[in-house]
Amino acid sequence: MLDKVLIANRGEIALRILRACKELGIQTVAVHSKIDAELKHVKLADQAVCIGPNPSPQSYLNVPAIISAMEVTGAQAVHPGYGFLAENADFAEQVEDSGFTFIGPKAETIRTMGDKVAAIKAMKIAGVPTVPGSDGPLSEDPDELRATAKRIGYPVIVKAAAGGGGRGMRVVENEESLVNSVTITKTEAAAAFGDGTVYMEKFLQNPRHVEVQVLSDGQGNAIHLGDRDCSLQRRHQKVIEEAPAPGIPEEARQAVFASCVEACIQMNYRGAGTFEFLYEDGNYYFIEMNTRVQVEHPVSEMITGVDIIKEQLTIAGGRPLSIKQEDIVFRGHSFECRINAEDPKTFLPQPGKIVAYHAPGGNGVRVDSHIYNGYSVPPNYDSMIGKVITYGRDRNSALSRMRNALDEMMIDGIKTNIDLHADLVRDEEFKKGGVNIHYLEKKLGL
Ligand code: ADP
Repeated sequence: MLDKVLIANRGEIALRILRACKELGIQTVAVHSKIDAELKHVKLADQAVCIGPNPSPQSYLNVPAIISAMEVTGAQAVHPGYGFLAENADFAEQVEDSGFTFIGPKAETIRTMGDKVAAIKAMKIAGVPTVPGSDGPLSEDPDELRATAKRIGYPVIVKAAAGGGGRGMRVVENEESLVNSVTITKTEAAAAFGDGTVYMEKFLQNPRHVEVQVLSDGQGNAIHLGDRDCSLQRRHQKVIEEAPAPGIPEEARQAVFASCVEACIQMNYRGAGTFEFLYEDGNYYFIEMNTRVQVEHPVSEMITGVDIIKEQLTIAGGRPLSIKQEDIVFRGHSFECRINAEDPKTFLPQPGKIVAYHAPGGNGVRVDSHIYNGYSVPPNYDSMIGKVITYGRDRNSALSRMRNALDEMMIDGIKTNIDLHADLVRDEEFKKGGVNIHYLEKKLGL
């Protein structure tokens, strides 16, 4: 078992990791930028090291500073959380080359999944359903391009193999604009990601975003923790998530779960991971795999009782998975609302001092947040300041608990999106379940 872990992140996820370490009796090292010295997990950690000035390239993305902090404090392993270095294969490699443990998959797995063409290929081999597409990188030959698009059927989407964060893709409606669109996407991808490889997929018109959580120990054992629906998005950013994904036929769900587990075993995947799918007309289409813990992991924890971060820590400690698939009992329903410090109209980040904070509570309410009275939200990082998670025996009771929780929650001094959430959880279509990925933007008139 690990005995000392360095947490290479900040905010709510750093606190979440710290709590899991403490439960397991693991010592913790917090690393932070200058402005983050007042973060809750920094105060609660056994040791804390300032690794640089506020801009994240000089602190949370500063690999030499993080590895030095591990050396100085005697930490054995590093938990990257999400964002920052969590899916950086070079970082994972440097950590392991320096003799430490990276809490996550092997660097080569992160690298494969970071290359979407390679990831899709691996999924096809494992039997995971993918989007009908070009079967690899696109050629330069216009006739071949036209033939590929014709076979797939318009509209198609041209995507960068190295793309991420919703960037590096272009929808093509018809043959006239095809060759030009491919050229532009290639040029943009080369400039943005240093790799001009692009591929083509069928463009799905009104899909839902459904994802599958897995745990795998890299020793031949893998399980799934069911699915989550994260269709409520704005600019490809998830806003509300829930588990399980509502209204999907059980047979289809079980088949996709089985294929994800099979893929983990074939890849000898190590750690927690998520298979993301678009779901349309009863079919699943793989879009990408996230090789890390996700923001929305709590909703899966609520319906399974499994602590995903603790599992990450024990897997990294070299233990085989302690839970079997048949041990997992799916019970009830869970929602998560991401609370952001942002202007409710313009969605621009709203850093500043929280002068009064009242967290919601009660049966089935969980708040994962690092904020407190008097905490100043810095302007340097992501605007998410916490997550409200509710649980109920069924979808309706989890949703009514969320309505109460949001009404109870009070954050004064800065603007937040609490009222937007309060409105969304009362939306008639959302209440029915199963809205598609365009629903929120349409509702907001975007
Ligand atoms: P990124 O790594 O940049 O997040 P993804 O491949 O996960 O890229 O796609 C991001 C989003 O783009 C998806 O959630 C979906 O909204 C849209 N998208 C991607 N591929 C398709 C597709 N084939 N059809 C329709 N929408 C797509």
